[in-house]
Amino acid sequence: VAGVGTSRRELAPQTEAGGRFAELAAMHASVAAERAPGHDAQGSFPIQTIEEMRASGFLGGLIPSALGGVGVETVHDWAVGMNRLGRGDGSTGIAVNMHLGATFGMVRLRDAMVRTDNRDVVAFFDRLLERRVRDEIVCAPLTERGTTLNHPQLAATRLPDGRWSLSGRKVFGTLSPAADLFSVTAVVDEGGAKTTAIATIRQGTPGMAVLDNWDALGMRASGSNDIVFEECVVPANAVVLTHPWGTMPETVMVTVIAQVSGLLGVFLGIAEAARDEAYSLVTSRTKQPSGATLASHPGVQRHAARIEIDLAVCRSMLDRVTRLLDEYLAEHPAGQDDREAVTELFVEFQATKYMVNRNAIAVVDNAMTMTGGAGYLSSSVLARLYRDVRAGPFMQSYSPNEVVEFIGPTSLGLPPQGDL
Ligand SMILES: Cc1cc2nc3c(=O)[nH]c(=O)nc-3n(C[C@H](O)[C@H](O)[C@H](O)COP(=O)(O)OP(=O)(O)OC[C@H]3O[C@@H](n4cnc5c(N)ncnc54)[C@H](O)[C@@H]3O)c2cc1C
Repeated sequence: VAGVGTSRRELAPQTEAGGRFAELAAMHASVAAERAPGHDAQGSFPIQTIEEMRASGFLGGLIPSALGGVGVETVHDWAVGMNRLGRGDGSTGIAVNMHLGATFGMVRLRDAMVRTDNRDVVAFFDRLLERRVRDEIVCAPLTERGTTLNHPQLAATRLPDGRWSLSGRKVFGTLSPAADLFSVTAVVDEGGAKTTAIATIRQGTPGMAVLDNWDALGMRASGSNDIVFEECVVPANAVVLTHPWGTMPETVMVTVIAQVSGLLGVFLGIAEAARDEAYSLVTSRTKQPSGATLASHPGVQRHAARIEIDLAVCRSMLDRVTRLLDEYLAEHPAGQDDREAVTELFVEFQATKYMVNRNAIAVVDNAMTMTGGAGYLSSSVLARLYRDVRAGPFMQSYSPNEVVEFIGPTSLGLPPQGDL
């Protein structure tokens, strides 16, 4: 791209493992970018790219290198890797991020066990994590229509023999076409007390169906299908009761910040790709009668200024919030979370999510305005980026409306409003 580059200003990995992860991400991104137009047009899932990531070890990004993973230890570097991937293809980025998010909690628990020298439990986690590098891809369809994430309606019923029966429907099951395991939230209603549980279901279990029904405005290659459970029976140890229904414990808040920071990396990547695409067009295309490039017009330059300012805000906020989370994680192993500190972080994170999603959309919008009608054609990369970037604010938790209902009262020492 002509002009002042972004390489010195882009988010950069802080650790050696983060550097390897970012390099692998960039490698997969360049292939994903070539395949993206076809998958976008057909709404098909890039299974080949995911298989290549399985083979390269990229899917084990957060898993210790001794277990075959890349060994990324900071959320900052996780987000940087996702940023590189997002530049190539947003759909592939958000899909892979679901798997990484599903490994994060397990790695955190293992770390806590290592600190207390609990060798048997460490060995147990090691076996699980080793499989998550190449053998088992996990997706996390938590969303259900008509309820919040903290109030799942998918019912887990204990059977007389100790197994569980699951019934209900999840939507937005990103990565589902490639998933070997499905990690879902459920409600266990026993004796009037409702508890949230995490159920892990293997692909192919009778009673579970992954519908091939993802057809959306953008993120068309993310495979975000509905998943239906009808008296789906799973083993006793496949359902773990975690916390009172309707609550969001600290450990879940920490996971949300970490996982959604990865998603923000993807949306920043989409915005950066739009910037590059637009700049390359306006610096090369000329117009008569002057024969000057589009870039020479002050009106076009104003859009470039807006783009640079918005990107600087995105990068700064994402960089800062992930560093804050990494500092917190270093001081608080799993099981030793501090409610007050996590809530403060959550406020900071929600402000970041709000701004990164909003600015990323503004960047792509300005990129399209800059390039004119060319970017509006279906064959244009910008048209895809314009549709993909629009998904950001929908990603839970929270949506822009909910952010306002959370940050305002919380900052004033009042309980958050509504159905959060
Ligand atoms: C491409 C894509 C991929 C996704 N992948 C996944 C995935 O892998 N796993 C997963 O679990 N989910 C996934 N999701 C779902 C996502 O996280 C949201 O849960 C989903 O988009 C529904 O959120 P919503 O805000 O649109 O819907 P609703 O919650 O029904 O909200 C509808 C509207 O009401 C507003 N609203 C709702 N509650 C409140 C409130 N308390 N205060 C103020 N306003 C409120 C919302 O802001 C919104 O404008 C994905 C979504 C997309 C678009």
